[in-house]
Amino acid sequence: MKLLNVSGVQTFYGNIQALKGVDLQVEEGSIVTILGANGAGKSTLMKTIVGLLKPKHGTIHFLGDNVTGLRPDQLIRKGIALVPEGRAMLADMTVMENLDMGAYHRKDKTIAKDIEAVMERFPILKERQNQLAGTLSGGQQQMLAIARALLGKPKLLLMDEPSMGLAPIVVADIFKLIKEINEAGTTILLVEQNARLALKIANYGYVLETGKITAEGNAKELLENPRIVEAYLGA
Ligand code: ATP
Repeated sequence: MKLLNVSGVQTFYGNIQALKGVDLQVEEGSIVTILGANGAGKSTLMKTIVGLLKPKHGTIHFLGDNVTGLRPDQLIRKGIALVPEGRAMLADMTVMENLDMGAYHRKDKTIAKDIEAVMERFPILKERQNQLAGTLSGGQQQMLAIARALLGKPKLLLMDEPSMGLAPIVVADIFKLIKEINEAGTTILLVEQNARLALKIANYGYVLETGKITAEGNAKELLENPRIVEAYLGA
């Protein structure tokens, strides 16, 4: 089943058109990755899907419902969460306060239990729960950003460049974590500069160039496509 269906989406910054009619689908249970050079429009697409930017044309459907133009808080309630580029930690708040924020819209009674489960899964966050988020290392901040998003219990998790600025060994941990989150039942839409690693864990991929999708296919096929290899995967 299609969890997300983006159709003909055009997004502008004033007169600058950043998305020029984007079509993209995300199958429930999958990992889908978006590849593209700097400035291609990847972050704009992620922000449009989570309601931070409104598309001028086109539609976005989630679980069959038309969600075009809804606000981010409305979309979080429907099950779409974003781990933003640069992690967007609340640096002056503690690790625990950041985690609490992730569940702010929930009304169920299992929040404390879920926070405890997250702490078990990320022991470093438990250890540092009373420390300011800004004092964590880059990799720890990324884990906190992911943990915070997971506390919203999303069906679809969007991740914008989760490996950016991290040491290679930490990057490997982050990719392993993304795979585990997916295996536990969360569908993932992933933007990554690290195209090879992204395609290795993804089921399907799209290539975005100056606001348009110019290629798509099974991740395995993209890994073997000479044009993709030359443009995004190095020699
Ligand atoms: P990067 O990997 O560098 O983040 P990206 O693929 O995510 O790149 P976007 O950030 O979505 O690209 O940018 C797409 C286009 O929109 C670029 O031409 C960029 O200059 C432009 N753009 C992005 N943000 C704004 C803004 N706030 N105002 C005006 N133009 C913007």
